[in-house]
Amino acid sequence: MFFFFTCGTHTFTSALKGYENVTVQCQNCGNISAHVYKRWEWFTFCFVPLIPFSLKPWKEVGCPICNFWQDIKYRPDVTGGHGDQIPMPGYGGGGAPPPPGAPDQAAYK
Ligand SMILES: [Zn+2]
Repeated sequence: MFFFFTCGTHTFTSALKGYENVTVQCQNCGNISAHVYKRWEWFTFCFVPLIPFSLKPWKEVGCPICNFWQDIKYRPDVTGGHGDQIPMPGYGGGGAPPPPGAPDQAAYK
């Protein structure tokens, strides 16, 4: 008879309530593709989760492109419940200066 007991860990990952529609920029690869997840790691025995490593699941910003995880406490810009957290490059400021090298009217005198 041979018994094979497998111990390991299993991390439960699910979308964090209130952050389902929040997409933020990944600080590792720069893509606006990261989402906020709730992660909870458990100690498993024979693939059955028995003991949680922590009392509470932790909240992390995860990027599916580069597989980078970052605790949400390091992302004060990430807030949930507003739906739209995508930064809009090019917006804000208003009245952008003309690009350098643009033809100057004075040059055509
Ligand atoms: Zn990334």
